[in-house]
Amino acid sequence: MEISCLEVIRELSNYVDQDVQPELRAEIEAHLPSCAHCTAIYDGLRNTITLMGDGRSFELPIGFSQRLGLELAHSSSRPSAAFFWIGGRGDAMLGLWESGSMPLRMTNHVAFRVELEDLLEAPARLKSMGIIPRGFDGEPSEEAVVLAWMPAASVYFLDPDGNQLEFICMLPDAPQSELGVLSWSDWRNRKLEQAAP
Ligand SMILES: [Zn+2]
Repeated sequence: MEISCLEVIRELSNYVDQDVQPELRAEIEAHLPSCAHCTAIYDGLRNTITLMGDGRSFELPIGFSQRLGLELAHSSSRPSAAFFWIGGRGDAMLGLWESGSMPLRMTNHVAFRVELEDLLEAPARLKSMGIIPRGFDGEPSEEAVVLAWMPAASVYFLDPDGNQLEFICMLPDAPQSELGVLSWSDWRNRKLEQAAP
């Protein structure tokens, strides 16, 4: 029986990691040359892993986002990272960060979309539960931060395993990449100044 695209796609990251059974490997190897769709995803995945794994200079593979059909939301060189929208602006995001050649541990980053009102209350609520609310670089923060290139307001915190959790709320304003990341109060003050006559 021939393997379906869905099965191939589901197993591709294991395949790239050389972590699939021989029969499955053979089926994927037979499928890829005849399927441009799966090959495109395979190439994208290999690029991703090279990007994260070699620890040398971080270069965004040319055409990576076009091949995956993803819109580049933001990239930065310090730390080296690239963020792609998935399924349109504000829906879901793929973040790629440079890491060393030998990661000693893996941490996950999961973001939860919340209402702005709840987001602004989150730092105080987290503190009352004994959890440190944090900013974009992991520094303790008393308030939400704004990622101006989206723009979105976010509050970060860590779970007991060190995974990074995030509450996020897209803001209705135009992106202002040049502002980078700023505190909620700085963002709000800028908006008030702009609105002043
Ligand atoms: Zn396919």
